[in-house]
Amino acid sequence: MQGIIKLCCFLALSQRIMVLFKKSNDLHNYLDSQRKQGLKLGFVPTMGALHGGHISLINDAKKNTDLCISSIFVNPTQFNDPADFKKYPVTIEKDIELLIGGGCDVLFLPSVEEIYPNCTSNTKHYELGYLETILEGHYRPGHFQGVCMVVQRLLEIVKPDNLYIGQKDYQQCMVIKRLIELIGMDNQIHLNISPTLREDDGLAMSSRNMRLTEVERKKATAIFQTLSFIKENISKGKLDKLKIQATSMLSEQGFKVDYVEIADAGSLQTINEWDGKQKLVALAAAFLNQVRLIDNIILN
Ligand code: AMP
Repeated sequence: MQGIIKLCCFLALSQRIMVLFKKSNDLHNYLDSQRKQGLKLGFVPTMGALHGGHISLINDAKKNTDLCISSIFVNPTQFNDPADFKKYPVTIEKDIELLIGGGCDVLFLPSVEEIYPNCTSNTKHYELGYLETILEGHYRPGHFQGVCMVVQRLLEIVKPDNLYIGQKDYQQCMVIKRLIELIGMDNQIHLNISPTLREDDGLAMSSRNMRLTEVERKKATAIFQTLSFIKENISKGKLDKLKIQATSMLSEQGFKVDYVEIADAGSLQTINEWDGKQKLVALAAAFLNQVRLIDNIILN
């Protein structure tokens, strides 16, 4: 116990306690001891500015594992736009309260040096193939390489039994699945994809929503409305007209649209004609002034 007190900090809210680690070696050793006691570890990596969506992942982890670990790290290597990185919201005190309230047991709060001791430049290339050339991969060059760098490092430190990620980042889920195979952890780690938590008006919860003005926040619901419009109007045959209509719905609300696409839900291959059977997902990414929002819904 003495050792643990030296290595970390205990945070408490009423009766609940969460242990905070800043050093990867300390966390690694602590989790090793927990694993040796037979505990099953559930891990929820985040970039902070937490909301109900993140807490739903914590809840899912708590249901199926014995020890819930979360990390907060705004990963510089996944921001293709430095201005976006600078403006990423940081609300650490509120985050800690939410995590304790949600029943998280362990928080990892590392510095950049702790995650990237040998500097942040990418020395390794992850072979992501097609996933890196479409949609988010196309519009955010290098983004998924950065995601892979940080997730690999975090997985090696935490070595979770279960990893919890959100469908909100649909393509990221596919990239992480691929990463786990590439680094040979697919036999050790069970990947859980949790559904997207939404505000009452349908807007997907996102840390970036905090950056919206009141007017922008109202307009932002257009993304979910557009995806729902696709879901309601899709029919067998050509999809070009539907995609154009959907894109206009966003442009008319003042969005600068990166994409509104319909893709195979399994492979993420975009499609222009539907046979009425193939399982599909609709995905959108668009800017409201400086804030880039993404969302997706399964269509059938
Ligand atoms: P982030 O902090 O944005 O990197 O997100 C951390 C994790 O929370 C990722 O696995 C996201 O997919 C997930 N997440 C973000 N928003 C939501 C949401 N609205 N509902 C469910 N999960 C989410």
